[in-house]
Amino acid sequence: MEISDLSVTDLQARLRARELSPLDALDAIESRIAAVDPQVQAYLSRDLEAARSEAERADVTLPLGGVPIGIKDVINVTGQPCTAGSKMLESYRAPYDATVIAKLRAAGAIPFGRLNMDEFAMGSSTENSAFHPTRNPWDLTRIPGGSSGGSAAAVAAREAFAALGSDTGGSIRQPAALCGCVGLKPTYGRVSRYGLVAFASSLDQIGPLARTTRDCGLLLNAISGRDPMDSTSLDEPVGDCTALLGHDINGERRFRLGIPKEYFVDGMDPQVRAAVEAAIKHCESLGAELVEVSLPHTEFAVGVYYIIATAEASANLARFDGVRYGHRAEAPKDLLDHYKRTREEGFGGEVKRRIILGTYVLSSGYYDAYYLRAQKVRTLIRRDFTAAFEKVDALVCPTSPDLAFKLGERTDDPLRMYLADIFTIAANLAGICGVSVPCGFGSSETDGVRLPIGLQFLGKPFDEARLLQVAHAYEQSTGWHKASPPL
Ligand code: GLN
Repeated sequence: MEISDLSVTDLQARLRARELSPLDALDAIESRIAAVDPQVQAYLSRDLEAARSEAERADVTLPLGGVPIGIKDVINVTGQPCTAGSKMLESYRAPYDATVIAKLRAAGAIPFGRLNMDEFAMGSSTENSAFHPTRNPWDLTRIPGGSSGGSAAAVAAREAFAALGSDTGGSIRQPAALCGCVGLKPTYGRVSRYGLVAFASSLDQIGPLARTTRDCGLLLNAISGRDPMDSTSLDEPVGDCTALLGHDINGERRFRLGIPKEYFVDGMDPQVRAAVEAAIKHCESLGAELVEVSLPHTEFAVGVYYIIATAEASANLARFDGVRYGHRAEAPKDLLDHYKRTREEGFGGEVKRRIILGTYVLSSGYYDAYYLRAQKVRTLIRRDFTAAFEKVDALVCPTSPDLAFKLGERTDDPLRMYLADIFTIAANLAGICGVSVPCGFGSSETDGVRLPIGLQFLGKPFDEARLLQVAHAYEQSTGWHKASPPL
């Protein structure tokens, strides 16, 4: 086994035992990047010098001591670029550490590289990056998912031991599913958003992508907690999200796993359906009691999301006006021309589409019909989950309705692109936690390439320990997570 193949857990154990040094770990990742990133193109930039000096000083006795971690290019790290995948921020350098970065450093980790993404996290394929698309390590002609496509591809391709991503409507879980790694969206309010470039503030949450559920738990432990800089971060005890791993899922009573019937509709790839159904049977063999549940407002989730997310985005992105930071148009005629050309030149097509949509749904005369109504339906969607969680401990369903699709296949069809998140969006609207774990492979019709499939578990607010427990039990008894792409 190469060093770059190690999980965070195993790497950290070897660092602690002084069998490896943090510099060895960094060198292993660097040589893997040199070998495969010219094809995968997961990274946008790396600060090797800083990383090497941090590795030399790393305290390996800390929980993530000496472990290099890749960071989605939307989270601020002092002195490093933070482009958000946009020309608007191409030459921006972060003047401060996001809270999650400060916390990772406190746990001993080294935030060493910047991972590609859809511009401002808007997209499901990483093709909306202003710089270049990232490719799926299982098939370089396919997309890695998005918007955290660089994070998922790097972890799957052994170019990062683990990474941080952000999830507004599925951007951690969907690429994790399509690349064959584990991705966790924490409960809204568990992780501080301070220092995350905002897309839709009531939905955004930072979370880990890694090769195992345990690694995700370790990272989540490190980044969680109330932060006075983010008033939406909640004062819940952080606890240890790995505490229940390996314990029988049927502790005091039988684990009840809900199957939301609305998530098994026509239109999903039959291979995804087959793999997920087999996975659910497997969960039953682990002792879980399967319970059919209904989330009756599921059909409205995508529509509601594209009203609320675009509305919030239109407000959040108003700050990119060329005055204080970011791209600025040259030689404007007057102030209006300055704003117009700055935004015309700095934003890509999808971002402009969202700003226009969001401005429209908030405009006077339409606010009640769209935004206000969407907020009401959001409440109904949230109540569906509250009711379901009275009956079950967690829910299980597919992460993505499809296998990874070909680059370019959906770039002219925004609606089809939006439907890639049909199974992940409701969790963000409801604020609950979710994790995607590998559950098998499908093969592409055209060329027979093996492509990963993801299984999604959804959990109660702040119940990540239990969510990871069931995901871990599934992962460890099947071993799908051990497969690595033929790069
Ligand atoms: N694909 C969804 C979108 O384009 C979700 C993105 C995300 O979670 N950041 O908005």
